[in-house]
Amino acid sequence: MSQELFHKVTDHTTYVTVILPLAVPKPYTYSVPEEWIDLVQTGIRVEVQFGKSRLYAGLVMVVHQNTPQEYTPKPIISILDEQPIINETQFQLWKWISEYYCCTMGEVMNAALPAGLKLSSETRVVLSPLFDDDFTDLNDKQYLVAEALSIQNELSIEDIQKILNQKTVYPLIKTLLERKVIYLKEELQVKYKPKSVKCVRLREPYLSNPSELENAFKKLTRSTRQMEALLAYIQLSKQQEIVKKQDVYNAAQVGSAVIKAIADKEIFEIYDKEVSRIAGYEEELINSSELSTQQETAIQEIKTAFEEKNVALLHGVTGSGKTRVYVELIKEAVARGEQVLYLLPEIALTTQIVERIQKIFGDQIAVYHSRFNNNERVEMWQAVLQGKPILLGARSGMFLPFSNLKLIIVDEEHDSSFKQVEPAPRYNARDAAIYLAHIHKAKVILGTATPSIESYFNTRTGKYALVEMNERFGGLELPEVVLVDAKDEFKKRKLQSHFTSVLLDELKAALERGEQAILFQNRRGYAPMLRCGTCAWTSGCIHCDVSLTYHKFSDNLRCHYCGYQSKITTDCPACGDKNLSLKGFGTEKIEDELKVYLPNAKIGRMDFDTVKGKNAHAKIINNFEEKRIDILVGTQMVTKGLDFDNVGIVGVLSADHLLQFPDFRASERAFQVITQVSGRAGRKKKGGKVIIQAFNVGHPVIKEVMNNDYASFFDREVNERQEFIYPPYYRLIKITLKHKKPQILNEGTKVLAKVLKDKLGTRMIGPAVPGIPRVRGFYLLDILIKLERNAKLITATKELIREGIYEMQKTKGFSNVRVNVDVDPY
Ligand SMILES: [Zn+2]
Ligand SMILES: [Zn+2]
Repeated sequence: MSQELFHKVTDHTTYVTVILPLAVPKPYTYSVPEEWIDLVQTGIRVEVQFGKSRLYAGLVMVVHQNTPQEYTPKPIISILDEQPIINETQFQLWKWISEYYCCTMGEVMNAALPAGLKLSSETRVVLSPLFDDDFTDLNDKQYLVAEALSIQNELSIEDIQKILNQKTVYPLIKTLLERKVIYLKEELQVKYKPKSVKCVRLREPYLSNPSELENAFKKLTRSTRQMEALLAYIQLSKQQEIVKKQDVYNAAQVGSAVIKAIADKEIFEIYDKEVSRIAGYEEELINSSELSTQQETAIQEIKTAFEEKNVALLHGVTGSGKTRVYVELIKEAVARGEQVLYLLPEIALTTQIVERIQKIFGDQIAVYHSRFNNNERVEMWQAVLQGKPILLGARSGMFLPFSNLKLIIVDEEHDSSFKQVEPAPRYNARDAAIYLAHIHKAKVILGTATPSIESYFNTRTGKYALVEMNERFGGLELPEVVLVDAKDEFKKRKLQSHFTSVLLDELKAALERGEQAILFQNRRGYAPMLRCGTCAWTSGCIHCDVSLTYHKFSDNLRCHYCGYQSKITTDCPACGDKNLSLKGFGTEKIEDELKVYLPNAKIGRMDFDTVKGKNAHAKIINNFEEKRIDILVGTQMVTKGLDFDNVGIVGVLSADHLLQFPDFRASERAFQVITQVSGRAGRKKKGGKVIIQAFNVGHPVIKEVMNNDYASFFDREVNERQEFIYPPYYRLIKITLKHKKPQILNEGTKVLAKVLKDKLGTRMIGPAVPGIPRVRGFYLLDILIKLERNAKLITATKELIREGIYEMQKTKGFSNVRVNVDVDPY
């Protein structure tokens, strides 16, 4: 308190400009009290107050002496780091993302720092300094808590609940407080503590002179338990380098008090040992296979390309062995002492590719993705900081503290999961990785069997190099693709439910040959709609303007946008008639009906609903690998990164569904998805067969997929994009406004739209009601901006958007209209 009152603001005051983990548009400035001036530097965290009472750990951006004119800065409360936690290049990347994707530095910081390096106010319990380590007169539960604290230093309320295996812990905490065993630590806590364990070792002279031990035992003759503990220690120390306190407890069946007594007699020393959470890689490493001629050529071409260009697009058909090419280039980089970042789409991380890479590189590699807990993520961060050569990660892996990054691989570069949609920063990791490489003077390989239109376009303009691998590894044939006219079969009454006779026959034949099959349908659930045949009522979500999907397993209707669930009725809620029927089909229905047509087949399903559990995804893959599943039905998940030996048939149930999306990327995505899923057929011995069912067999994309003709697809597609003013010829910025009241939304949007329209004219489209007008109770309006590829125009437009939002939000009544800006929306 007094500090705040008497802190003098003079001309020579030192200030820090701090990034707060909030969506405030500007960094905030705080003053630095005299005694800390020498300690503040860019990149460290400081504890600050923001608003009335909230405390945050902010990151120091700049240390300066410029007094802010708009407000009187508060002093910082404490300094959390001695050394910067992020480096200069990370700062550069953050700044670029914040400017390019129109978001705040705080939002970037939130995405970039592992939670363990972020801070929040939490109540935690620590061992009281007044506690004398005497556990003897505690009851069982008190003992458990005190014991845990003596080993772990501090506990959250949740930890204590777990330790005691009970929900109500406050009374116990209260008694422990009264007895001054523990106290509550309520100030801002640094969440991450390196995990340490209490260990035991001998003091001198016993440590270096074992003959002295006889005297030690003499000191303990009065207590058999103490003698047993010492004996247990001696035995343990012969087998292991480090003896944990816990090991002695276990071996001698004694408690903490016994060890303490031995320590009091100056025989034992109790010390903290830091242990890493990153388990060593213990499996046997494998040598990578021989390179094919095609792979050798690709490696050479990439190296040659890198003499002139920074980015190479490696366009290799599915099964061509791109991973082997990466492995070779990674090995060479690591041998030169360089760091490598290998980015993968999130879902693929849980699959086979990570294992394969780990088997080759073992402990040289750290894997970083969202399934790791906070402390593990902090340790990965430290590992990279200390120069771990290879980091394999999903998109957030790019935020790690590299010091000597020289190669970035973006595998499956076309994958939409590289784009973060919610929350901000709405960045595309593939594109940001190219900027990251620019900062580090590193090279980038974008690898895929189905390039994004943008990346391929950049090879045509000469910006990126193009390296192609047109053959499958080991001379394997590409799968034979068969197109089946579902409309024709329907007319001839050969169509059974959603299966053409061709598909069913092929599945039966494959099963007889002992082969497996994958069936792809891009909708999950049983049926996407419940409809009344009498009055045309359809099942809709009460929070979102979408139809509810029927899920047979849970026998209810669910919203795929907000999770709302509703019971299924037999009578129409609108007209009361019993004329309700399910329309359309999802993976669940395919699985269900397949059982009727192929009663002997073992059928599995992989979609959002079946992979929810922690290891569910791996389990399904494992079951398929071990042939406990004959036919795997799934959504897009089955198209990603899977590599099975025995798949004879891949079926695409409805190519039409993919092509009908009202989105300028519908064709691009359809081409990618169908090609990727087709690539799952016959990857080791045989070519395999792909059956594509469609009602509209004349669609050009289907023909191009069948001929595996990416170049023709690209040429036709870019012509359309140019004609209709879309990327890659133009840049898109999508602004979405949200409010619970449509009236306020409409009026607020008008304010923003006017600011934009005055300057942008016809480059601005809308405001328009999007395809789904309401989500989670919020009404939505979209403004779309199409810009020529002119850097100055794009920068000026982003500035204009910021101004427009500011203008709207300061207008009375519209301050809480939410605005999302999405640059390069996907
Ligand atoms: Zn009805
Ligand atoms: Zn909903």
